[in-house]
Amino acid sequence: MSEYILARGNGRNIPHEDKIFGISNRAKAMIAEKGADKVINATIGSLLDDNGDLVVLSSVDEVFKHLSPRDYADYAPIGGIAPFKEAVQKAAFGVHQPKGFTEAVATPGGTGSLRNVISNYSDGGDKVLTSDWHWAPYNTIAGEIGRSIATFEFFTAERKFNTESFRAKVNELLAEQESLVIIMNTPAHNPTGYSLTLEDWDNVVEVLTEASDCGKAIALVVDAAYIDFAGDEEEYRRFLPKLENLPENVISIVAYSLSKTYTLYGTRCGAMICVAKTKEIAEEFKRVCEYSSRGSWSNSAKVAQVILSRIYGDPGLLERVNEERAHYRDMLIARGRAFEEAAHEAGLETVPFDAGFFISIPCDNPDAISAKLEKQGLFIVPLAKGLRVSVASISEERCKILPAMIKAAMDEA
Ligand code: PLP
Repeated sequence: MSEYILARGNGRNIPHEDKIFGISNRAKAMIAEKGADKVINATIGSLLDDNGDLVVLSSVDEVFKHLSPRDYADYAPIGGIAPFKEAVQKAAFGVHQPKGFTEAVATPGGTGSLRNVISNYSDGGDKVLTSDWHWAPYNTIAGEIGRSIATFEFFTAERKFNTESFRAKVNELLAEQESLVIIMNTPAHNPTGYSLTLEDWDNVVEVLTEASDCGKAIALVVDAAYIDFAGDEEEYRRFLPKLENLPENVISIVAYSLSKTYTLYGTRCGAMICVAKTKEIAEEFKRVCEYSSRGSWSNSAKVAQVILSRIYGDPGLLERVNEERAHYRDMLIARGRAFEEAAHEAGLETVPFDAGFFISIPCDNPDAISAKLEKQGLFIVPLAKGLRVSVASISEERCKILPAMIKAAMDEA
């Protein structure tokens, strides 16, 4: 019997409360009861300063405050305003623009890009491939449009990218279905903080080149939500030209987000940008994705499109934005390093980590361990295969004390 009263389940299992927001609410309740100094809320997916306040780039905020009503009140075209489509490609690719045919379509955040890729490059009932450690909303986004997520093992026992598992899953799914969407969240993957190395990328390109011999359509999505928080902007974009080596029936699509990179989370702005071998494939991309936008959210909000266009239209302003972001990125990287060092000292194993908002700890009973830690005032997120700590939302000092607390709770369990 369905648990729904009037609503239709449509194969979905909809919980009564979003897990992460639920934990965060419990953390807030404990802060209200016992005081902020008694609680560590390491669940939040936004960058907070050491006082727990949201980091907002003042250079971006300044642009916001000088907008005219026409900049935010008017509709934008379905695919986005022209200067945005140009600016967002510069923002995504930097100096490493791949050769090939590129098109950008504005979307409400990276989430909108993921939705449009899945709806246009897979068939109903298909499986979409990503790593076993992954951002849980991929399941929701796929499930909402009648697809599901399949996974490959992200890491080998030697803590390296698991090319063989990736190869096996790609070939298995291509034998079963007519097309395949693959989501690769890198650099600074959520929830592990892993960044694919250039060698990992060579392996991915090789696997997909071989697999493409079947002639089916493959869409490789680079979920780049955290691209400017891993380290040097250009260094972490060096993998991009590798995408141009992929064959014609493999389209690469960068799911770009302004949420973290420009601290514009709430304006819901991003873009899907394709790298295609032919003009026809790029034009098809634009046509089908704009059509899907029309049928889901219509046009995306104009405000952040104007903001990005202004930033890229003024080199001095762009420099200020990049410098300001680099300052906070260094803060985030220092937190990650502090956590890693303290984990090493405490004998706490983490999943391979490079940089970014999150670090994960593998364990067998994540729910029980996180419940135990909640009682001590430490709030982290239990995942299927372990625990996720948001170093984006806690100070470096707190990053130093968490590993020992987590290790003690794991030992007791
Ligand atoms: N991909 C990953 C891995 C994320 O963690 C997020 C946000 O948390 C997104 C994509 C998309 O974010 P938005 O829709 O706000 O751009």
